[in-house]
Amino acid sequence: MPKPQSWLKVTPHGLFCMPGDFYLDPIKAVPKAIVTHGHADHARPGHEAVIATPETIEIAKMRMGNNTWQKTEALQYGRSLRFNGVNISLEPAGHVIGSAQVVLTYGGSKVVVSGDYKRRQDPTCLPFKVVQCDTFITEATFALPVFRHPDDHTEIKKLLASLERNPDRTHLIGAYALGKAQRVIALLRKAGYQSPIFLHGAIKKVCNLYKQLGVPLGELKSVSHSNKKDLIGQIVIAPPSATRDRWSRRFTNPIVCFASGWMQIRQRARQRGVELPLIISDHADWDELTQTLVEVEAPDIWVTHGREEALIHYAETKGIRARALSMIGYEEQNE
Ligand SMILES: [Zn+2]
Ligand SMILES: [Zn+2]
Repeated sequence: MPKPQSWLKVTPHGLFCMPGDFYLDPIKAVPKAIVTHGHADHARPGHEAVIATPETIEIAKMRMGNNTWQKTEALQYGRSLRFNGVNISLEPAGHVIGSAQVVLTYGGSKVVVSGDYKRRQDPTCLPFKVVQCDTFITEATFALPVFRHPDDHTEIKKLLASLERNPDRTHLIGAYALGKAQRVIALLRKAGYQSPIFLHGAIKKVCNLYKQLGVPLGELKSVSHSNKKDLIGQIVIAPPSATRDRWSRRFTNPIVCFASGWMQIRQRARQRGVELPLIISDHADWDELTQTLVEVEAPDIWVTHGREEALIHYAETKGIRARALSMIGYEEQNE
């Protein structure tokens, strides 16, 4: 069985599969790429040929234009392709719509590149699938024992309680446009919130695509078509940057909220002027990461972007060989 180090290499462009001659989530334009999901630090423009889930291809077209990738091949979850003896399949990663783990089999050894992932239920995407493998490549965004994300329903209840207490103020929620915003909306609907939700244009665009892809989000309105009065006591969702720039000046005395895993760090919330932090993460927390390492039963793990050390130490205590892959170009902020 060939060791994965002999056929998967870290290069300045990203992780490279030598026999298959393709990159995984390359950070620069390459001839052939497999892209795990639509976030900007993973789905980059300019590749010649790309394999991804149909949803990820749609997201990339919306964000970067129809021709940013010359050739695309949509690969459904669970189907497989073969290149020069490398078998490729995609399985749900539970991170955002269309997000995939890449399962590579070569010479009898199986490597899973998990991309970004989480383990908890998300009404806007399929749940993470555990795939047993020989080598598991994991992210490490929240890989410290202090990171334990609370139940998302508790966080949504905090928001609904604040709405009730402050019927005269707009709740302005900063949420990353792809994934987080739709999840917050879906969680609000699940909690019984039926009113229209007002959106910044950048968020509206992604929500329309989610609707096209079959995710119900209820009644959504654009902020641009509403006057100040309409927004009193309502929920507005905008990209995190917009909650702090000129765009947000149209709201009088809003309650600024931010939905992010980083909101567990109070200091970060304070620095950003966030009055109501909502700890809602699309990345695995410490418990989800360690649970996953155990469940995939891989004797080897490689740890990519984030905090590698604690997870490597944890793996070693479980008798799992672990190494850090220094991968650059993936942002931890887009969470
Ligand atoms: Zn991501
Ligand atoms: Zn990432």
